[in-house]
Amino acid sequence: MKEQTLLIHGGIDGDAATGAVNVPIYQTSTYRQRALGENTGWEYSRTGNPTRAALEALISDLEGGTRGFAFASGMAAISAVLSLFKSGDRILISKNVYGGTFRVLDKVFKQFGLGYALADTDDASALDAAIAPDVKAILVESPANPLLTVTDLAAAASVAKRRGILTIVDNTFMTPYLQKPLALGADIVVHSATKYLGGHSDVVSGLAVTNHPEIAERLAFVQNAVGGVLGPFDSFLLIRGIKTLAVRMDRHVANAESLAARLATHPEVSRVWYPGLKDFPGHDIQFRQAKNGGAMISFELADGKDHREFFRTLRLVTLAESLGGVESLVCHPASMTHASIPKETREKVGITDRLIRLSVGIEDVDDIWSDIENAIRKA
Ligand SMILES: *Cc1c(COP(=O)(O)O)cnc(C)c1O
Repeated sequence: MKEQTLLIHGGIDGDAATGAVNVPIYQTSTYRQRALGENTGWEYSRTGNPTRAALEALISDLEGGTRGFAFASGMAAISAVLSLFKSGDRILISKNVYGGTFRVLDKVFKQFGLGYALADTDDASALDAAIAPDVKAILVESPANPLLTVTDLAAAASVAKRRGILTIVDNTFMTPYLQKPLALGADIVVHSATKYLGGHSDVVSGLAVTNHPEIAERLAFVQNAVGGVLGPFDSFLLIRGIKTLAVRMDRHVANAESLAARLATHPEVSRVWYPGLKDFPGHDIQFRQAKNGGAMISFELADGKDHREFFRTLRLVTLAESLGGVESLVCHPASMTHASIPKETREKVGITDRLIRLSVGIEDVDDIWSDIENAIRKA
């Protein structure tokens, strides 16, 4: 099946028992056992649920893996993957990973002896040099949040493979429709499916996929043992969202390309970060490993502009955390998504107080632009 067909018919297509074209919401915690030791293959919904299983098969098909896992949030998915490691191990993370990923490593896993270090994952030789004997995995986002730094995933994964460690890629910003990390050599892909995969800002969820049977077995064990699973109704919402991923992404990206070009030439915008712009540092790598530049844009207003006033003036574009929904959202990384990173670290990686991050929605692009242009003028 081609990709756009897979989005609609991948995983488990419909309900074999009734012919329902959609996988039903199996809103049940447990399953009748016919006799002692004789069950239907379903025992308890933390361990497995048919609606969740359909979603897990779907994301596995889409990422080109062998097994998928659905969790109650992106952080639950990332935490489950981090639970594969042990005390004394260390994880290398890209310099501008999602704030919550940094926080869970720094404030939770560190307490159990799992260490982390920041690395220039976009520089293969620096990455190689950073792999000390205790480093067991690299965790990469590309493009990374919020400066959209591009990492050459195949290069990073090949360094990791040569050094005998795992590559974990957070593919939230791209989705499998735009980028397939497993095909580039990654071992595990994680998602905040809250974002583009769900696509409608109505469900918090996380996914993980691998193509290694042993990792899959251990992740299945962790998922059941730790228990941060996605419920049946939310699994249904995600399956529903994923069906329209291709048409939504195409529109998100077309709008983003147009807005990035307009921002880049606006006299009162001092800088624009968008991998789809020809002069963006990671542009060539991005277009080699992904379909296009995606739909996230960051920018800074020119000196003398007041970003608080910019946010206050916006009417259509909503000031909110999160991204990837059909509606355009804007955020202030320094005080919102990346507030959990100490200011000093934040500034060092380039997340200044003037930085604005835009998640381009699928509204009419001229409506989005007039709102942004007006807010820039008033700022
Ligand atoms: C939002 C996000 C997460 C966390 O996911 P939740 O669903 O909010 O728990 C992780 N990584 C990236 C890149 C994100 O944008």
